[in-house]
Amino acid sequence: MYNIIMERELCNKCGECCRRIPVDFGRNIMYRDGIQPLGKVFPSYLNPIEKRDNITFCTCKYLENNLCSNPDKPEICKVFPYSPLAFLPDGCGFEGEIFLKKEHLMQKIRKLKEEILDYKIRAATTGDRAEQRQLQRLIQTHQAFIDKYKSYGSSDW
Ligand code: SF4
Ligand code: SF4
Repeated sequence: MYNIIMERELCNKCGECCRRIPVDFGRNIMYRDGIQPLGKVFPSYLNPIEKRDNITFCTCKYLENNLCSNPDKPEICKVFPYSPLAFLPDGCGFEGEIFLKKEHLMQKIRKLKEEILDYKIRAATTGDRAEQRQLQRLIQTHQAFIDKYKSYGSSDW
């Protein structure tokens, strides 16, 4: 029996993150550590237990007594929860840590939006073409970062 996963300090070994994994098989994604691709191997771990619209809740076949018994535990499980946008079950010991990570990300995105506004004003008022091009590039880079999180609602943060 391998119990590699749940030894991280904040984990209370409830097993919930492996007991009800929300999966959209139509889009080949799961809502776990953020929105993740299912990949090739992970689907073979999953036993469906409930379906609601497009989402199928699955239990991992390697969950035993709330611990992971997978000798080849994938990297995405070793680091879970890593993303600031991880979907945590109620009562997960990482709630506080992930909340702070998400707040930090949202602050960063709000700052980028403020900078975009500033760059737009400067681009509209400067007569210098080179500066305008540079500002446009900065706007695009900032916007691309914001758009990476669009499916999580970054447009409204
Ligand atoms: S839901 Fe959180 S506390 Fe529970 S086993 Fe998973 S990581 Fe640990
Ligand atoms: S492989 Fe282990 S850590 Fe990953 S979902 Fe299954 S039981 Fe959980």
